Amino acid sequence: MSEKMIAVLPGDGIGPEVMAQTLRVLECVAPEVQTQHGLIGGAAYVEHATHFPDETKRLIDDADAVLFGSVGGPVEHSDQPKWRNCEVNSILALRNHLNLSVNYRPAKFYPALQNISPLKNSRLAGCDEILILRELLGDIYFGEKKTWHEQDNTYAQDTANYDAKLIEHMAHQAFQTAEKRSGKLTSVDKANVLDTSKLWRQVFDQVATDYPNVVLSHMLVDNCAMQLILNPAQFDVIATGNLFGDILSDAASALPGSLGMMPSASFSRDGKGLYEPSGGSAPDIAGQDKANPMAQLLSLAMLLRHSLNMNQQAEAIEHAIEETLNQGFRTADIMQDGCHLVGTTAFTNQIIQILMT
Ligand code: NAD
Repeated sequence: MSEKMIAVLPGDGIGPEVMAQTLRVLECVAPEVQTQHGLIGGAAYVEHATHFPDETKRLIDDADAVLFGSVGGPVEHSDQPKWRNCEVNSILALRNHLNLSVNYRPAKFYPALQNISPLKNSRLAGCDEILILRELLGDIYFGEKKTWHEQDNTYAQDTANYDAKLIEHMAHQAFQTAEKRSGKLTSVDKANVLDTSKLWRQVFDQVATDYPNVVLSHMLVDNCAMQLILNPAQFDVIATGNLFGDILSDAASALPGSLGMMPSASFSRDGKGLYEPSGGSAPDIAGQDKANPMAQLLSLAMLLRHSLNMNQQAEAIEHAIEETLNQGFRTADIMQDGCHLVGTTAFTNQIIQILMT
C-alpha cells in the first residue's frame, strides 16, 4: 500500500493544542500515516508576513487530505496586522484553493450528554446524528453584489446564482451519502419563493430516480429551522444550498451542547478533503489546556474514513470518545454535576488508554 500523507495545519489559538493531542491519537491508531506540518493564519503571518504562504499551498497540493485546526486572534485585536482579515485570507483562501464544493457537518447526540443540550430530553428522544450537507460554490455569496446611492436613499443588492449542473453534483453527493446511512434524505429550499430553489428542487427530483433506495422529502427552510428544534429526531441527512446550509448547520451544531464537539469535512470535486472543527480559535481559553479536543479528533476520524479508507480506525476513535464520556470525563465546556473535570491533555489520555486496551 502506498504511504498516505496528511497536511497538518494547526493554525492559531486552541488549534495547536487540540492538534497536538489529535496527532497522539493518530499515532496510536494509524502510525503508518505520514504527517507534514504547515503554517496558516496568524502563525504563518509571523514567519512569512502572509496568512497563507506558498509553502503551505504546495504542502496541501501534495497531501492526500488536509487536517486543519483553526485560525484567528481575539476579536478585539482584529485591527492588528497579524489578525486583520486573518480568517478570510487563510480559511476562505484555503477553501478556494481546494475548490471545495460540499461541506459535511454531523451533529452527533451523545446519550451521556443529554442534559447539556439546550433542548429538553423529551425532544432528544431517538436523536442519533444529523448530517447537514451544504453546497459551497453557488448561491448568494458568489453572485454579483453592489451598494449604490440614489436620490436620498442607499440600496444594496446580492444576487443568488445556481445552475443545474452544480445542483446535480450536490444532489449525487447527498443521495450517495443517504444511501450509505438510513436512506432518508431531506432537501431544504425556499421553492415557494425563489427561482434558485425551484431549480434545486427540480434537479433533486430528477436525480432521485437514480437512487430508488433513498426516500427524498422536501422541506422549506423556515420550517426546517423550526423542526430542528421541535423534532430533530426526524432528520438523518439534510442537503441544502450555501446560504441556508450556513445558518442551519450552525443551528444544528448547537443542539448537542457544545461547539467543541463538532467536526466538519469539505470535499473538492476531485474528492480531496479538508477536515476541521466547526468552531474557531477560541482565544478566550487558548493556552490553558481547557479546550475540548473532540471536534478535532472527530475531524481526524472523518479524514481516516473518507480520505484514507480507514473505517476501522475511525470507528475506534469515535468509540473511545464515547466511552470516555460514558466514564464521566468532561472538559469544561461539557461539564456536568458528578463528572470529572479534566483538561485537553487528560481527556485525550483517557481516549488513548481506551484505544490501547
Ligand atoms: P470561537 O468558535 O472561537 O469561540 C466561540 C465560543 O466557543 C468560545 O466561548 C470558545 O471558548 C468556545 N469554543 C470553541 N471551540 C471550543 C472547544 N474546542 N472547546 C471548548 N470551547 C470551545 O468563535 P469566536 O470567539 O467568535 O472567534 C474567535 C476567533 O476564531 C476569531 O478570530 C474568528 O475569526 C476565528 N474563527 C475561526 C474559524 C476557523 O478557523 N474556521 C471559525 C470561526 C471563527
